[in-house]
Amino acid sequence: MYHSELRDAVLNIHRVARTLRKSVPTMRGFSVVYQPQVDRSGNVVAAEALLRWDPQCGHTVGPNVFIPSLERSRLIVPVGQWVIEQALAQLKAWRKQGLNLKHIGVNVSARQLLPGFAEFVQGAVERAKLRPRDLVLELTESQAVADSGRFADTIRVLSDAGFTWEIDDFGTGYASMRWMRRLSFAGLKIDRSLLIATNEPPGLIRGICAMAREIDLRVTCEGVETREQWDRVIKAGVHRVQGYLVGRPMPASEFQSTPATTLGAIRPTST
Ligand code: C2E
Ligand code: CA
Ligand code: CA
Repeated sequence: MYHSELRDAVLNIHRVARTLRKSVPTMRGFSVVYQPQVDRSGNVVAAEALLRWDPQCGHTVGPNVFIPSLERSRLIVPVGQWVIEQALAQLKAWRKQGLNLKHIGVNVSARQLLPGFAEFVQGAVERAKLRPRDLVLELTESQAVADSGRFADTIRVLSDAGFTWEIDDFGTGYASMRWMRRLSFAGLKIDRSLLIATNEPPGLIRGICAMAREIDLRVTCEGVETREQWDRVIKAGVHRVQGYLVGRPMPASEFQSTPATTLGAIRPTST
């Protein structure tokens, strides 16, 4: 990278951090989109909440840029709380409208797992008049493995209270199945990279599913874009599928107005 490019990149990081700091108190420019998750028959059973930010300066900034910035500044704590509240309110609203999702998933950054997190989550679910099993908390494999000693208690407390934890981006870190069970994770989400990597052993996803079954973990496959991939992961035994083939992340209004048959149009030829 040339010196001038490096300087631009650094300036940009600072600009994003500064604009975020100004946006968070009012949450202006932030929104949540929802991506459907379907079961093996193609029925929409859940949704993942994904944060978006429009700094209203003419160009958009993706989550892969602004989330790390929020993490560095610890603003991820209030923003993460806001996402949880939005997602719970949305699930509640959908159910009222007759869209009966089993639960809603939110991403949790390790930086959010401070004392008070478990109390916040429990309070938010109570305030929304929902139950712990309505909320799935996703934590990436790399973050979970890096610092699990520090927040193992938080994970356990919430699991014992009935909340579901899932390991996100599974296959990018070094989590073992036994370790996940011990920390009371109830599911894992296979990272898209495993699906598209040509150098992975062909039976890898099947092997993950077999091991997960042994210890009763739910397996979701992310990033399924083609019918060929759908057939492959269904055959391998995944329980749930999420990806552009089924539906892109979309505003709540679009999610609820899209007929389930369109979202879940992917009926497998064989299971
Ligand atoms: P993630 O949790 O792994 O979310 C899945 C990402 O994969 C999303 O990217 C989604 O748009 C993308 N995706 C889904 N299906 C497909 C597909 O078929 N093909 C491809 N190429 N991509 C697909 P997105 O929305 O850009 O989010 C990126 C990451 O930002 C998320 O990855 C998550 O780690 C983080 N993130 C998003 N919202 C939040 C949040 O509220 N809190 C925290 N802590 N992190 C968040
Ligand atoms: Ca996720
Ligand atoms: Ca993921």
